[in-house]
Amino acid sequence: MSLVGIAAKRIVTCDVSRATPDNPLAVVEDAAVLYDEHSISWIGPRAAAAVTPGLIDAHTHSAWAGSRHDEYALRMAGADYRAIAAAGGGILSTYRAVTAASEETLALELAARLRRMAELGVTTVEVKSGYGLEPDGERKQLRAIARARADASLPSVVATYLALHALPESARGSRDYYVLRASTSMVQEVAQQKLAQFVDAYVDEKAFTVDEARLVCEAARRAGLGVRLHIGQFADIGGAQLCAEVGARSADHLEHIDASGIDALAKSGTLATLLPVASFTLRQDPPPVAAFREAGVGMVVASDANPGTAPTESLPLAMALSVPMYGLTPTEAILGATRNAALSLGLAGHGVSRPRGTLASGARADMVVWDLPHELAILQPWGAPKTHLVLRKGRPIAGSAHSR
Ligand SMILES: [Zn+2]
Repeated sequence: MSLVGIAAKRIVTCDVSRATPDNPLAVVEDAAVLYDEHSISWIGPRAAAAVTPGLIDAHTHSAWAGSRHDEYALRMAGADYRAIAAAGGGILSTYRAVTAASEETLALELAARLRRMAELGVTTVEVKSGYGLEPDGERKQLRAIARARADASLPSVVATYLALHALPESARGSRDYYVLRASTSMVQEVAQQKLAQFVDAYVDEKAFTVDEARLVCEAARRAGLGVRLHIGQFADIGGAQLCAEVGARSADHLEHIDASGIDALAKSGTLATLLPVASFTLRQDPPPVAAFREAGVGMVVASDANPGTAPTESLPLAMALSVPMYGLTPTEAILGATRNAALSLGLAGHGVSRPRGTLASGARADMVVWDLPHELAILQPWGAPKTHLVLRKGRPIAGSAHSR
């Protein structure tokens, strides 16, 4: 049975811990009570709580191992992202840590991270591979992600095969073969084994070209998988046009995109997934948010959780930064982490049963009861979990009122 809620003018709790000499029956006025078939989960004054759809983090690299604190210090001292990458840091540093870790370790680290995300009100998380780089490493990472997907006590997981993220040292002399293998046998295998719902590639000046990414996008479509792409983080090399051409659900980063790229996204209905924590760490200028708004490009806000450029697990932090840094309105930030995030993951929209990201009849019972007086306050208590109760499919998975 799902969780059920009742609101009433007076809830007479008879609870000794709430009772006072003036209120011996411990009545909570204008209150709500939530319960399932086993027990009451929460009682409190309605005025003290806001209820929203469960937050959806539509872009994370959260299946990592290791730590890049040394690199962070270098970066803050002025070292450039691409210089760090060229020296074997960045993605390649996490590649080495993931290569050395067992599937079990990766699964445990990911589960712990997802549990902390749930405490912040997140009920669905997109998790990318992309630190395995070689087929065996990618398989290991995707299997670790699949373990988290099977665990109903964690937020729901949407898995993405990040087919082209960085070129490992071993493939320096065989780039074409590396891209071809990713876009043929690997995409097919991932689809057949249902290890991912989406395929992704990092399209940028010093990453992969539009032509290389097109190969994996076309393979994804043939295999029945969705496409989402990293584009325009450092340079506009035509990634938005590729997104439109292959029907990508989501174009992510977008610090660099020109008017024709914005037009392409608007026409194809591709959502713009914005990652302010990465811009913050890299001290970048914001994406052209006003132009997205004007063109009618739907905006998503995501954490980009990764050990290098977005060392956070907090979607509420990304939402908070998106307002002063990017110029989103607080309302846009909330929609970007609920309804639009669900759309970008194919979890809402035409023909989707039990849609997420909205509270409506027929929607999945993914909800958060916040210990906040108003939904706009989700953007304010930075870094602090302010959740009473976090429900996935009507069952508590986190929150101060959730006892494990
Ligand atoms: Zn990313």
